[in-house]
Amino acid sequence: MMTPLTVQLPFNRDILGPAFTPAKRGDKPATERGHWILVQEQNLIVAPVADGFALPHGACPVPLDPAPPFWLGTYRDEPCWVVALAPEAPLPPGLSRETVVPMRGTRLPDDLLSLGGMALQALWWESTSGHCPRCGERTARIEGEWGKKCPRCRYEHYPHLHPAVIVLVKHGDRCLLARKREWAPGRYALVAGFVDNGESLEGCVAREIKEEVGVDVKDIRYVGSQNWPFPSQMMIGFVAAYAGGDVVIDTDELEDARWFDCDKLPALPSRHSISRWIIDHYGRP
Ligand SMILES: [Zn+2]
Repeated sequence: MMTPLTVQLPFNRDILGPAFTPAKRGDKPATERGHWILVQEQNLIVAPVADGFALPHGACPVPLDPAPPFWLGTYRDEPCWVVALAPEAPLPPGLSRETVVPMRGTRLPDDLLSLGGMALQALWWESTSGHCPRCGERTARIEGEWGKKCPRCRYEHYPHLHPAVIVLVKHGDRCLLARKREWAPGRYALVAGFVDNGESLEGCVAREIKEEVGVDVKDIRYVGSQNWPFPSQMMIGFVAAYAGGDVVIDTDELEDARWFDCDKLPALPSRHSISRWIIDHYGRP
């Protein structure tokens, strides 16, 4: 069987295939017609169509003053623009607000989630990179790049992605799953955590599992990744084998963790997350 080159999940730009070509900032085309990604908090403003939702298309449907749109890339041979709307801004007739967040029950199709995720990350970067993190001076765009440079101390930085590991621990026909207090009742998922300075990905997997659920792992195997734009994580997925120890949870992080038989799994996250993808591909009988 042919395995896809990348994990086919929303928020991974790869799923758009050749339909999307990312822009380099500063490289703006002359026209301001095209596809419009209107972002209001963590929602996209979309037009309902027969089989779901579509981006507004043509001229921009909202006033463009004062924030100018920025060019995210080329989508289906036309420019794709991003505009941030104020939380209280009224919507044009015929358009509606749809959340991009899987845990809030997004109804958007995967291609719009991937475009929306890139827009959220680009807006996050713009909102956090306006001043130099070293000296506080206002930054300037590096020509043709997303990066920013400081005219005073010369510091340069580029959009930040925060690497985090997410791990399925298996022991024979059982999966170790965990839940946090704030999740929907009864829902379990995988243990995840951010990579520390100086740490390898494998080292991070072993440490996070030991800290959060108390067990040792071996045979750590990379299985895929997902870009997660809330606000800018790179989720790096692994499967590991149980190597010993009792399940003892870190109660600051988790409400529960336990072994489940692979054929009797509990409620799981929606199909949008790599947590669910790993469980579906590696945690089933
Ligand atoms: Zn500076």
